[in-house]
Amino acid sequence: MSGDLSTNFWSWEFRCPCPKCKKIKVRVSSLLLFKLEMVRMAFDGLPVIVLSGNRCPEENKRVGGVPNSEHIPNPDGEASDIKIKGVKPIDIGLAAEKIGGMRIGIAKTYCHLDVKPPSPSKFWIYLGGKIIYSAKIENESLLKFYQIIKGKEGE
Ligand SMILES: [Zn+2]
Ligand SMILES: [Zn+2]
Repeated sequence: MSGDLSTNFWSWEFRCPCPKCKKIKVRVSSLLLFKLEMVRMAFDGLPVIVLSGNRCPEENKRVGGVPNSEHIPNPDGEASDIKIKGVKPIDIGLAAEKIGGMRIGIAKTYCHLDVKPPSPSKFWIYLGGKIIYSAKIENESLLKFYQIIKGKEGE
């Protein structure tokens, strides 16, 4: 098994799904691919399912992505939304935190990973259509930040 982007990843997985981008070259940061291979390894080689990789600005707007999203290739796409069957998004996030060098967004059904430096948040949580950023103070530990937000949610 060998992908055309890296050992386990294929460009079709990262392609912008809009009709306009059908024939555009898929561009994914090699650093991101390396990190994703490490995430895969952290779960004993369970397949990492890419739900969203590259997005053109129009597609990013359509799916409600933040402006200047790392999903938009510039020149390479530096973000992916992933899931692993049977693994909770927070557990993917915690594995990614251990690997390091990634910003991590936790959603209900997937985990966003990108290789942009923190600016200023390293972690965030998608909650009811909103994004809660860890900002500076809770940048130290994803688990702590997650517990604070989840605790608030339960109140
Ligand atoms: Zn597109
Ligand atoms: Zn994302």
